[in-house]
Amino acid sequence: MKCPYCSAVDTKVLDSRNLEEGCVIRRRRKCETCQKRFTTFETVELSMPMVIKRDGRREHYKQEKILKGIEKACEKRPISAIQIERIINNIEKAILDISDKEIQSKEIGNLVMMYLRHLDPVAYIRFAAVYRKFQDVEEFVNELKHDEFNQFKKTEQNKDQSSEY
Ligand SMILES: [Zn+2]
Repeated sequence: MKCPYCSAVDTKVLDSRNLEEGCVIRRRRKCETCQKRFTTFETVELSMPMVIKRDGRREHYKQEKILKGIEKACEKRPISAIQIERIINNIEKAILDISDKEIQSKEIGNLVMMYLRHLDPVAYIRFAAVYRKFQDVEEFVNELKHDEFNQFKKTEQNKDQSSEY
C-alpha cells in the first residue's frame, strides 16, 4: 500500500481490526519514509450478475434500485437504516446463490418480497401490492410517484384509524 503523503511503497501495518462482523478490515499503517500514519479499509467487492429485464434487455445490477424500493416500502415503519442495509446484504447474497452470471429481474423482486415479509408485514404488503403488477423493481419505484400508490396508502391509513375505534 502506497503512502498517500509521499507515495513511498514501504508502509508498515500497525494494527488490524475487523469491522461489521469481519466484512471490513481496518488497517492502521505507518509510512517508513515520512513516518505519517493513515488508515485503510479492505472490503469484499461482490461481482453481481447481469440483470435480464422483462423485455429481454440486460443491464448491470444496481443496488440503488433495490434500496429505493425497500426504503419506499418501509416509509414511516419502525425500520432502521441498519436493518435495511442488512436486508440488502442478504438479498445480494441470495442473488449470488442463484447466479453470478445473470438473473431475471423478477427473481430479484421475489427475493426482495421474501425478505421484506420477514422484516415487516406492512412494508411487504406495500411492496407486493404494487410490485406484483409490474414484476420489476424499477417500474415499482416509478409507480410510487403515481396516484394509485398514494390511494393505496390512504386506504391503509384509514384502516389504521378505524382499528383504533
Ligand atoms: Zn510517506
